[in-house]
Parts: sequence; C-alpha cells; structure tokens
Amino acid sequence: MNLVTATWTEPGNTPVALLLLGKGSDPASERGVDCPGDLPAPSDPDLVARATAAKATLGDRVFVLGHHYQRDEVIRFADVTGDSFRLAQQAAARPDAEFIVFCGVHFMAESADILTKPEQRVILPDLAAGCSMADMAVLGQVETAWEHFQDLGIAGDVVPVTYMNSSADIKGFVGRNSGVVCTSSNAKRALDWSFEQGSKVFFLPDQHLGRNTAVLEMGFDLDDCVLYDPHKPQGGLTDEQLRNAKMILWRGHCSVHGRFTIDSVRDVRERVPGVNVLVHPECRHEVVRAADYVGSTEYIIKALDAAPAGSSWAIGTELNLVRRLALAHPDKQVTFLDRTVCYCSTMNRIDLPHLVWTLEELVAGRVPNVITVDEETARAARIALDQMLALP
Ligand code: SF4
Repeated sequence: MNLVTATWTEPGNTPVALLLLGKGSDPASERGVDCPGDLPAPSDPDLVARATAAKATLGDRVFVLGHHYQRDEVIRFADVTGDSFRLAQQAAARPDAEFIVFCGVHFMAESADILTKPEQRVILPDLAAGCSMADMAVLGQVETAWEHFQDLGIAGDVVPVTYMNSSADIKGFVGRNSGVVCTSSNAKRALDWSFEQGSKVFFLPDQHLGRNTAVLEMGFDLDDCVLYDPHKPQGGLTDEQLRNAKMILWRGHCSVHGRFTIDSVRDVRERVPGVNVLVHPECRHEVVRAADYVGSTEYIIKALDAAPAGSSWAIGTELNLVRRLALAHPDKQVTFLDRTVCYCSTMNRIDLPHLVWTLEELVAGRVPNVITVDEETARAARIALDQMLALP
C-alpha cells in the first residue's frame, strides 16, 4: 500500500474492508435498494473529464455537496464540503440552484430537501447510500416505545432528542412531540435545553453520542442512563428502570465508529509515543474516556489545523477523512486509530461512476434519484430542526 505522506501509513486491509451493508432488499430501510441507470465502467479513463464537462455544462444550475467521509474522487467535484448539518445549511443557502447533488447518505439528502425550496430537486447519486445508524430507529418502533412511556405515565416528562443522523420520519416524530434535533457539535446545548423542558430525555438513535454527552459533558452517572432495545418487549427495561432513568438511550450506533476499541487506544499509545488520541463522540464510551480529545468532525479538522508541527495524532473517525487530514498536514504525524481499514460502506457507494452518471443524466434533461420528504413529515421535522437552530 502506498504512503501518501512521509508520515502516513495506510492501515492494513481487513478481510471485509467495507462493512457489508446494503445486501439484499429491505424496502423499509435506507439500504438494499438498487440504483437504476447504466453506470459508466469504473475503469473508464475519461471519467474525470466526463464529470468536469457535465458539471461545466450545468453551471450554476447544479450545486454539488460533498460530505467529509466521501471518496477523494468525488470530493474533488464538490462545491462545498462539510458535515451533515453544514451541508444541509449550504443547500438552503443556494435557492437558485435547480439541482442539489448530495454526495453523502440518504438522511442527509432528506434534510436538504426539508430545508430547500419546493422547486429545488435534491439528488442522491446512489439510492443505496443509506446509513446503518439511521436504519436502527424505525418510526413504528419509536412510536411503540412512546406508547409504552404514555402507558407508564412518564411521556409528559420525556423530551425526545434525535441526532441529525436519523431519518426524516424520526425527526418528524421528535418535532410532533416538542423535541429537538442535535448534531455532534451541539449535543450538550440540546440536552441542556431539553432538561429545562422535562426531567428525562429519550435520545435517538445513537446511544454513544447520548451517553458520552450526558456522562462526560453534563456530569450524569452511567446509572442515570438506560438502554432501550427495540427488539425486546418493553425495550428490555423494567418500569422502575424507566421511571428512574434520566437518559433513555435508543440502542443504535454507528457501524464505523463502533469498531474502535479500548485496545485500539492502548495499541496506538504503544506504537506512537506521545501520541494525542482524538476521537469522534460516536465512539464507544470507554474509547472516548481513554482518548485525550473528543469532538465532532469539524472539531477534529480544527484541532489538526491548530496542532503544532511535529505533534502526533491518532484519529478515530472515518478513514477517507483521516487520510485527507494526513495529506493536508505533512508536518504532523497523523495515524488512523485502528490498525485495519474501515470505511463507511454506504458513504463509499457514491463513487465517480455514480457521479458521472448523475451529472450526465441532468445534462440530458432527466432528473434521477430525487429524494423527497412528504409535506406533513417535512413540516414536523422542520419544527425540530428550527428548535435546534434556536438553541441558546
Ligand atoms: S459513518 Fe456511521 S453515522 Fe455516518 S453514514 Fe456511515 S454508518 Fe451512518
């Protein structure tokens, strides 16, 4: 494997470098959906030229968004890069763009559709680019849990909070029940606000972000948090546990960040003396505790920008981003926290052939893979998103 800088070493391959999601067909989830269309071959030597030409032909009619976890071959065509919330904001700030091509995953395109004008079309280059974490909270399951809280008489005390990484259906549920959306940057502010509205929070769908924020930033005990498993009767919890809990965490997690373990941290500290371990709050609680720094994707990028030359960093987040950070900081030693590769398989479904196909379809007057959220869901989801924007 190539060295991309003097200090960067490509992690070794796992037998399954891409987590195998998206297999088979599962119409109730974001994944397992075939992408229509006649894609160009990945080996086509003209792909870069074709994407460049199609984008130039479309001009200001198209605006291409690229999430930080996208492949380099796609990111080079992005008009703007960012995390999911920044990209949704950027989409909303381009009311004149007829087409928003979202190089990210399905829930992000949904958020962009909610925040853009009705006549704008949001396009996902591969419909199979879902998010396994978002899929872990399905509306019917969440409504069943809420009914259980109502039967117990605690629903009036509970404020639902959902991470940005959730479907529009879940954001709509949260909006209808006077809750708020949060990102990994503002999770503490969202929880502070929620605990002013009620005495309990129902945190969806990422248990780790909820737990890490509550315990490490707000001073709760681990015992204040309970895990609601939608696959068990009554979430696998007793009535007493639910009555006593301050944080009811949904049993969801990110398949990528969930791979980092306490052993990854111990191992890198032995390999790289003096290393600073910097992880995303979607990592497990014990990993975040063992790290030196924790923060959102934007925090990680800024931390590397501010780091002194010669410092060493082991980063626990998606590999495409970590490799780009290593390239951008050749004066620092940047290491992937794990020894082996793990990309987000669904993010990686958006590759150059899908982007070329999408742009060329638009040039031909056809609009592929449009992501739309129905008006009722969008209206309710907007309430929860607006509440996030209004956080003190
Ligand atoms: S990195 Fe994790 S949270 Fe982000 S899209 Fe992939 S599975 Fe979802």
